[in-house]
Amino acid sequence: MKSNGKKIQADPCEYCDGTVELRQLRVPFHFKGSTIYVDNVPVWVCKKCGERYFDAPVFKKLEDIARQRQRIQKMVSFPLADYATAPI
Ligand SMILES: [Zn+2]
Repeated sequence: MKSNGKKIQADPCEYCDGTVELRQLRVPFHFKGSTIYVDNVPVWVCKKCGERYFDAPVFKKLEDIARQRQRIQKMVSFPLADYATAPI
């Protein structure tokens, strides 16, 4: 495959040397003692041990999101059902 310009970096997992792949997941993000969840985050996931890695710009954006969450201090709640354990 021809690759010029920007190359997507996929270093092996630094813990187990496994292959990492780019996925979009809901991830918990810890910031200043609280945890927020962010959907559809591009994150590198090790296929072997499950370790997650963020690219630097992604991590920075998550920090920005978390920072803003803390400033507005608004909680949004929504019904969340579990498909597997729903009592129906
Ligand atoms: Zn690994």
